[in-house]
Amino acid sequence: MLHVTCFMTLNTPVSKLYKIGPAYVKKLNKLGIKTARDLLFHFPHRYIDFSNVIPIIKVKVGEAATVQGKILDIGTRRTPRKKMFLTEAVIEDESGAIKAVWFNQPFLTKTLLKGKEMSLAGKVNFDGKSVYFSNPSYEALGRNIHTARLVPIYPETFGISSRMLRFQIKRLLWLAEKIPDFLPKEIRTRQNFLELSRALKLIHFPSSRLQAKVARQRLGFDEIFLIQLYVLKLRQNLKRKKAKSIAFNEKLVRSFVKKLPFQLTDSQKIAAWEILKDIEKPTPMNRLLNGDVGSGKTVVATIAALETAKASGQVAFMAPTEVLAKQHFKTLKELLKGAGLNIAILTGSGQKLLGKKTNQILQIGRQNLKSKIKSGDIDILVGTHALIQKDVAFKDLALVIIDEQHRFGIEQRAELVAARETDAKPKRETDAKPVPHFLTMTATPIPRTLALTIYGDLDISTLKELPKGRIPIITKVVAPARRKDAYQFIKAQIEAGRQAFVICPLVEESEKLEVKSVGEEYQKLKEKIFPDLKIAKFHGKLSSREKERIMKDFKAGKTHILVSTSVVEVGIDVPNATVMMIEGADRFGLAQLHQFRGRVGRSTYQSYCFLFTDSPAKKTHQRLRALIKYGDGFTLSKKDLQIRGPGDLTGKRQWGIPDLAMATLNDLELVQKARVEAQGLIKEEPELKKYPLLRDKLKKFKQKVHLE
Ligand code: ADP
Ligand code: MG
Repeated sequence: MLHVTCFMTLNTPVSKLYKIGPAYVKKLNKLGIKTARDLLFHFPHRYIDFSNVIPIIKVKVGEAATVQGKILDIGTRRTPRKKMFLTEAVIEDESGAIKAVWFNQPFLTKTLLKGKEMSLAGKVNFDGKSVYFSNPSYEALGRNIHTARLVPIYPETFGISSRMLRFQIKRLLWLAEKIPDFLPKEIRTRQNFLELSRALKLIHFPSSRLQAKVARQRLGFDEIFLIQLYVLKLRQNLKRKKAKSIAFNEKLVRSFVKKLPFQLTDSQKIAAWEILKDIEKPTPMNRLLNGDVGSGKTVVATIAALETAKASGQVAFMAPTEVLAKQHFKTLKELLKGAGLNIAILTGSGQKLLGKKTNQILQIGRQNLKSKIKSGDIDILVGTHALIQKDVAFKDLALVIIDEQHRFGIEQRAELVAARETDAKPKRETDAKPVPHFLTMTATPIPRTLALTIYGDLDISTLKELPKGRIPIITKVVAPARRKDAYQFIKAQIEAGRQAFVICPLVEESEKLEVKSVGEEYQKLKEKIFPDLKIAKFHGKLSSREKERIMKDFKAGKTHILVSTSVVEVGIDVPNATVMMIEGADRFGLAQLHQFRGRVGRSTYQSYCFLFTDSPAKKTHQRLRALIKYGDGFTLSKKDLQIRGPGDLTGKRQWGIPDLAMATLNDLELVQKARVEAQGLIKEEPELKKYPLLRDKLKKFKQKVHLE
């Protein structure tokens, strides 16, 4: 047949490839694989070593090997008890014969015909009687795709098997030659990297571990390098813009700090100083304030907001949820009492104004508030993402504060910069419109390599210590049998005037999952366990009015126990709460559990975190033990990385980084090389005019890898 190869190009859609039906096309598209080129850039994450080709007589139990010979016999039957298909074959070479067993692949009897010369690879098992291969890789002798080599293993997603990917990619591998290398030659030479086409071939089908490693280095470098270029370009664009310079107002800051009910920590002072120095400049600040839960980021941001507003620039203070926005509004009301500023809140569900003379919360119509924002009457506007919407126009937006920044990615930040050129008139016709200063805050601890990569466009201030006088939270895993004791304990705490959180993984009961739900727990606690106490339930499905009322009552101490979903994870501050009880703790990540725990221990009372789990999994207990042992988020995030791998906490889900880039982040040296090269290139050739291939690649990369 004269199909495939003649007409195939890098742009051939996967639907046109040999042996790929519509169902597979759908699955591949879901992975972002649309063309032959995409397949070549879909990399294995590991390899199995089947390169040890030996005579059958030499196989050893527990070791991986490839054997080659003729099929003596093959047949499929159903196992009586488990109702599975069991295919058994015997394969023979000159030295001997061995059995191979496959489960639920009855079609094999049609491909592996008696008398055929085969290559089989896998781990050798022993069932007490005989030695055999269990679910071995197989292929016709001499193919060397699935056996007799280092065999690439691809991340299993959407039911696309490694076998299928290997088969396809091997057929397309020659196309790699047609991909020109976009990496400037000088960099390639300097870093001693393989050429792109060779690296592509070797990452899929290496002859040795060393070859695989060298290929991964080159391609991993590429991904980090592209992210860096992107991020540095953003940074550079921003540096070229103008921002309102906010003169350092020592008197103002001093008097604010003096009135605080506590002493700032050293870290808070340093961070505030760094921020105030930044906004003094006529170029926009782009700074991340990173500090563990409870380290006191809000007050630091408030100092910057105060200074900016007093210098007649407007401030937008944004939070990821309404609950948190409302809390910030209240905090600002307290902290900025008497500062003579107009502060307002605008969220999806409503808006309010804080009168600057009375310090009373006033009702205001939406349009009325918007026009006050536009005329510059509002000094500080608190809100959710709704604030990004273009229909909220400011007169002179000078500072944007974004809380819990891990919810916003690079893209969104870039968008904000673009969309938020202020409406302030440039001083001269030739001046560019100014953009606001940016302060983002997060409690998510980020490993250094990741910070360098993802936050390469940011300066970072870190709050290293918690405020003095905080008593470490006592964390315990409670065995199911001791649940009663935990309830007794909560009762005693509440009688002593404190409050408690109960976190459940679900909102409502689920038939499928044996997981506690808010509805169920609420009923149980209210009716059976604590009939005398005031209990409320809280979750994302409530209307924002209900949410507000419930939070208000809880903060005011009117309710004793708040049964909630993970909605309380971020930022909620109720200093009087001392017990955090977490149901189904195994269903949450360490970072998230740490966030929950951070909801208590916010006062001078001793606080407690009780973890409940029915899971016997070793990893679960390892993780929960880490939570007991370590109180700070940075150590915990490192542990989480070690226990779970980089995927969850720092990874794809949050930032949308490709797998190989993720893996490469463990290689600090390579990350730094990528950074240095990217910096050098941006400096020498900011527009990349000399490197059209690279420029093009960067453009495509940006489209594909939405850094969320
Ligand atoms: P986070 O960094 O998690 O956002 P917050 O800003 O919500 O932390 O602060 C947590 C609590 O600590 C708040 O009640 C705040 O008033 C208090 N706080 C902040 N700084 C200090 C400090 N230096 N000393 C004592 N308490 C502080
Ligand atoms: Mg906070």
